[in-house]
Amino acid sequence: MSHPILGLHHVTATVDHAQDDIDFSVGALGLRLVKKTVNFDNHHVYHFYYGDERGTPGTIWTTFPYAGHGVPVGRKGAGQVVTTSFSVPGGSLAWWRARLSKHGIAATDVADRFGDAVVACADASGLEFELIANKHDHREPWIAAGGDRDVAIRGLHSVTMLVRSADRTLDLMTSVLGYREIERQDNRVRVAVGHAGPGRTIDIVVDPSAPMAANGVGTVHHVAMAIDGADAQLALRQRLIDYGCHVTDVRDRCYFTSIYFREPGGVLFEVATTGPGFEIDEPVATLGTALKLPPWEETYRSTIEVGLAEIDVP
Ligand code: ZN
Repeated sequence: MSHPILGLHHVTATVDHAQDDIDFSVGALGLRLVKKTVNFDNHHVYHFYYGDERGTPGTIWTTFPYAGHGVPVGRKGAGQVVTTSFSVPGGSLAWWRARLSKHGIAATDVADRFGDAVVACADASGLEFELIANKHDHREPWIAAGGDRDVAIRGLHSVTMLVRSADRTLDLMTSVLGYREIERQDNRVRVAVGHAGPGRTIDIVVDPSAPMAANGVGTVHHVAMAIDGADAQLALRQRLIDYGCHVTDVRDRCYFTSIYFREPGGVLFEVATTGPGFEIDEPVATLGTALKLPPWEETYRSTIEVGLAEIDVP
């Protein structure tokens, strides 16, 4: 049976202040803000999508800035994506250390990951990130004004999810989602789909004594994998149900449709379609510049707009 997962689609986190999030994602990382919308489950909170020029699946980082809404700080732990890693060109990490420092962000060298050099950093909410330098990512990067093609982020490299035991997680990911084990080192197992490599990779780290995670500010909410279309999504949904997962109905996210379920280790997974994409409601040239609302929220636009913090995109 064919395995329809193409790779990563996006990673979504709960963050604190909207402006801090823009300053980190656009100002420091140099990602493009490709969509400024609201949380479809709470229209008083922004939903920012960042990525390459068009917000191509596999390049997308998304946030809900929940400052002022009484959401507690989350707890990092098992059953969660604990690190989001971006792919940068080999040899660019010295440039990135200087860049992060210029933005007041501490960069930490961590051990090479399966042969690739890594720098770690955190945003103002305490979310943990890595830049993984490698020579085999051929995706065309978004280059912000004044940016440099030789160092620009290519997209997501991988995520690291923490679980107390990997056996059932690996079984689901290999038997239903089409991942295969690529490498293993200490308590870290790397799985990937398709041609593997950046954007198609997930690391599973096992720590039997890790506390269970609690969702909240400064934590990743879910990781989404990409699937080609609605038919493949429905077929996969049925296979997940047959496997024993509790899967949501298909949800309309405007720019893609989604299903959600928890893998056996507790991490919230989403499977999102590659289309229709972010150009459905504004042209490529001006992506992310206007507040875009789904049709069912347009009625409330004036109320929504006054409730959202003003932001300045660099
Ligand atoms: Zn999502």
